[in-house]
Amino acid sequence: MVAILRTAARWALDVALPPRCAGCGTIVGDVHSFCPDCWKQVEFLGEAGCSTCGLPLQATEQTSCGGCLARPPRIARTRAAVAYDELSRSLAIRLKYGRKVAIARTMARYMAPLVSGEGERLLVPVPLHRTRLWSRGFNQSALVALELSRRLGIAADPLALRRTRRTPPLKGMSPLQRRKTVSGAFRVRDKTKIAGKTIILVDDVLTTGSTAEACARTLKRAGAARVELVSWARVVKPKGLNF
Ligand SMILES: [Zn+2]
Ligand SMILES: [Zn+2]
Repeated sequence: MVAILRTAARWALDVALPPRCAGCGTIVGDVHSFCPDCWKQVEFLGEAGCSTCGLPLQATEQTSCGGCLARPPRIARTRAAVAYDELSRSLAIRLKYGRKVAIARTMARYMAPLVSGEGERLLVPVPLHRTRLWSRGFNQSALVALELSRRLGIAADPLALRRTRRTPPLKGMSPLQRRKTVSGAFRVRDKTKIAGKTIILVDDVLTTGSTAEACARTLKRAGAARVELVSWARVVKPKGLNF
């Protein structure tokens, strides 16, 4: 009950205060936007790149990259609003540790135009393990999924997927190690809610894609017709570079 009241108080505060730039905090004219200085810094990714994975295309490639043509990924469409940098990182961190509804709304504002998909759609956040959920009290991607749901009028189910294992950070692992680490770490709570639907996975920061790929595998096994992914920020680095 206290938590609900606290959330309500924060919402009220968000509405009452003048809108501030999500990047630096200066007062701006438009809600959930950036000031001109921060705007210049943000690298919007939008619809650029491969139509499937969203990564930059080589000069010889048309709409899909060679990798996606050779081996279509489980995630039929991956989109991120912005490139991962100091500014987008600071937003993601403030959302993660501050439960800032205003930040979730700013992210959703720029992510919403990238959500496509056909058929019956369901927004599903990439889940946290329950121990992490308990220590933090909320899943930052779920907050964004709920804001996207509000904006787009698409149903969201923050509990559709759950993480059954706590996984170590994937940073520095080889692609194979990453796949092994996250393999089998997710479960679908209720298959009847997934079967036949286009599931739009929602994430805050997309790095290697191994976690999202494991989520997609689980969703497909549960009968999802199609899986797409929309993320706030994405680490864009040359292909083949290990990070
Ligand atoms: Zn600013
Ligand atoms: Zn591709």
